[in-house]
Amino acid sequence: MSNVHELKYLQDSVQELKDQGVYRKLPVLESANQAVVVLNGKEVINLSSNNYLGLATHPRLKKAAIEAVEKYGVGAGAVRPIIGNMDIHEELEVLLAKFKKEEAVMVFQSGFNCNAGVIQAITNKGDLIISDELNHASIIDGVKLSKADKAVFKHSDMADLERVLKEKRKDYNTVLIITDGVFSMDGDVAKLPEIVELAEKYEALTYVDDAHGSGVLGEGGRGTVDHFNLHGRVDFSIGTLSKAIGVIGGYVAGSNVMKEWLLHRGRPFLFSTSLPPAAVGAIIEALNVLMESTELTEKLWDNARFFKEKLGKLGYDTGASETPITPVIIGEEGKTVEFSKRLMEAGVFASPIVFPTVPKGTGRVRCMVTAGHTEEQLARAVEIFEQVGKEMGLL
Ligand SMILES: *Cc1c(COP(=O)(O)O)cnc(C)c1O
Repeated sequence: MSNVHELKYLQDSVQELKDQGVYRKLPVLESANQAVVVLNGKEVINLSSNNYLGLATHPRLKKAAIEAVEKYGVGAGAVRPIIGNMDIHEELEVLLAKFKKEEAVMVFQSGFNCNAGVIQAITNKGDLIISDELNHASIIDGVKLSKADKAVFKHSDMADLERVLKEKRKDYNTVLIITDGVFSMDGDVAKLPEIVELAEKYEALTYVDDAHGSGVLGEGGRGTVDHFNLHGRVDFSIGTLSKAIGVIGGYVAGSNVMKEWLLHRGRPFLFSTSLPPAAVGAIIEALNVLMESTELTEKLWDNARFFKEKLGKLGYDTGASETPITPVIIGEEGKTVEFSKRLMEAGVFASPIVFPTVPKGTGRVRCMVTAGHTEEQLARAVEIFEQVGKEMGLL
């Protein structure tokens, strides 16, 4: 028998990762994903979660999930166009559209799925997609699935975006500009008002992936479009239900005609089973919580300001962040990984992010502050940053 099943080509590739020092094992979480967690058997302050508002363990969401399971079971049982479209899926989309102040919403099984499905459905041969160079992997993959031509503009560089529009607009039917709302590695916010102005000047459409803006920016977490008061001027507003909303799922908010089209051409919607009832029940309750009070979003921003100010006072470089995403830029890759390891030993988990995820020499530990942290926990984390930073000669 041949030894084809040894997958020699993959063994070689894995060995290459090991030779480059980028082979890794997954950290194992042995508790809920909250402010203090048990990770690899050790209790630590968690500064790496996207559970911005602490909703993943909110009692009201847990109760709503359990109630949905009792009524509808654990699985939806089919894709939505056949018989997986439950009344709670419909209720969720109506509520989300109201929350986002848009005509209509279509929900997908994840934010990733949403980008993979929507971009290809709303563009065609003869169209052009113009994408920020730092856009998320799911946008890059989504764009690859489209038959449209592609162009990239320099990160948040409006002159470069205009250059592309000026050069290419006349050669295409529809032009779609795609940007993250909040960029996840640096925490900077897209220059959305300028992007929208340019789009209108050149008759292009706009598509904002607000995965890190959903639940974080805007009134009660309504997102980047709300933050800049651009309602009605962004054509496709993508959000995730997996980060600040605390559950799982993604969605696109926009016009009625957009939804009508996606009902017929949104491939993950057509060919992948709909969100399970527990998730839908919990998301509906999350939206109720956010629409009743802005307490959680205010707590998130208070905590973010507190933590950033303290780290800045210690002398750390927290980059260009305008959001609760707080990069602590260390620079050299090996030193960044060592810093994260020492923080973990001292009681804080903040994951290291290095090349090729970010440019060479800009390694950082990325801290995600949440509404679930107490001031004492954040103050303790700052003490640990000070202690480890001094030990390593970073301060
Ligand atoms: C996290 C993220 C996604 C993926 O969202 P999921 O719901 O986790 O699949 C998509 N886009 C951006 C910009 C993200 O940060």
